[in-house]
Amino acid sequence: MRTVDQIDLEGKKVIVRVDFNVPLENGMVHEEYRITSTLPTLRHILDQGAALICCSHLGKPKGKPKPELSLAPVARRLRELLEREVSMAPDCIGQEVSDMAGGMQPGEVLMLENLRFHPGEKENDPDFSKDLASLADVYVNDAFGVAHRKHASVVGITRFVRECCAGLLLTKEIETLTDLLREPRKPYVVISGGAKVSSKLGIFTNLLDKVDRIIVGGAMANTFLKAQGYEVGRSMVEDDLLDTARQILDQARQAGVSLYLPVDFITGQSTESRSPAAVRPYQNVPADEMILDTGPASHALFSEVLKDAGTVVWNGPMGLFENPAFSQGSFGMAATMANIEQAVTIVGGGDTNALIYDTGLADKFSFVSTGGGSFLEFLEGHTLPAIKALEECSQ
Ligand code: ADP
Ligand code: MG
Repeated sequence: MRTVDQIDLEGKKVIVRVDFNVPLENGMVHEEYRITSTLPTLRHILDQGAALICCSHLGKPKGKPKPELSLAPVARRLRELLEREVSMAPDCIGQEVSDMAGGMQPGEVLMLENLRFHPGEKENDPDFSKDLASLADVYVNDAFGVAHRKHASVVGITRFVRECCAGLLLTKEIETLTDLLREPRKPYVVISGGAKVSSKLGIFTNLLDKVDRIIVGGAMANTFLKAQGYEVGRSMVEDDLLDTARQILDQARQAGVSLYLPVDFITGQSTESRSPAAVRPYQNVPADEMILDTGPASHALFSEVLKDAGTVVWNGPMGLFENPAFSQGSFGMAATMANIEQAVTIVGGGDTNALIYDTGLADKFSFVSTGGGSFLEFLEGHTLPAIKALEECSQ
């Protein structure tokens, strides 16, 4: 696969698919690691004397323009980070955008509007792909976060551009993850948390033959708990997955994988509570409370499980970490993981990364991936559609 530093870019127009799907607050970018991670690619393109067109999605506008999901705040932040003018396009395709792109000079930067304002993006529509491709001479994919999606801006577009290649971030993600996980140092431990079992089923179905231990935290632990007949009160739980959860526990046992669930929880009256209700052993969660974090005994157990680990991969917070009353389990896990000297430590996932950057411990990890779903699918050994498309067009 060709990378952006292997292509002559001088005087060309270069369209880069970035993953600027960042959280916004009051019209400002709240968490910007996804933007800063791609700056090396963007700076390289500008330094080579090319005009730079950035495109991304933001949130879930469902194929229609939604002003609150405009990329304009991101363009404003990008202007500060690149220290140069960034023009904001009114759309991502169409005559006006095409005219704006057509008039660009080397060194100029244009940010296209949210790709998902058009249904064609998610439908991988050839006409939409073609319109996007027509804006530039060279296509660069630097959006690892959406590499598992079969969307127009990462798959369809590769059929219509003259030249295409991988950006520096995408290349780094693929190389580092491949390298670190080719022959993972043992014991290989996966920590899986977050909101739902359903969004992470692949971890349990596709990783059992690769890993030695799985630690489960976050709301997904509730489903495992309930599946074993315990009370989970008013906690978030997936009632349609109780059978699946029981199967996973069986399969893990058969595969010789040790699966660790929390042994105690921090409960609360509501997700907005300013303080926890209590620390509860897993057998004693009252019907009127919610499980919102893992407790101190779980932390001790998980630390023990991690102590001699060779490789640790973490995706999904241990609790409702956005509320400081329920952030201990997640912050504690970050601190524990940052301190396992001998292990290769890898973290990924939108919320998990936000948490890691909050702790200030990010550089204590071997690698922090910008991917969420794509990160997990990559670990599971899937061929990601965007990477396949790029390989096919950039041989
Ligand atoms: P990532 O984006 O890193 O892949 P997820 O999106 O799967 O992670 O999950 C993160 C979300 O799960 C966070 O918003 C967090 O508050 C929530 N969460 C974790 N544990 C609980 C819990 N016990 N109750 C409610 N929400 C939880
Ligand atoms: Mg998330």
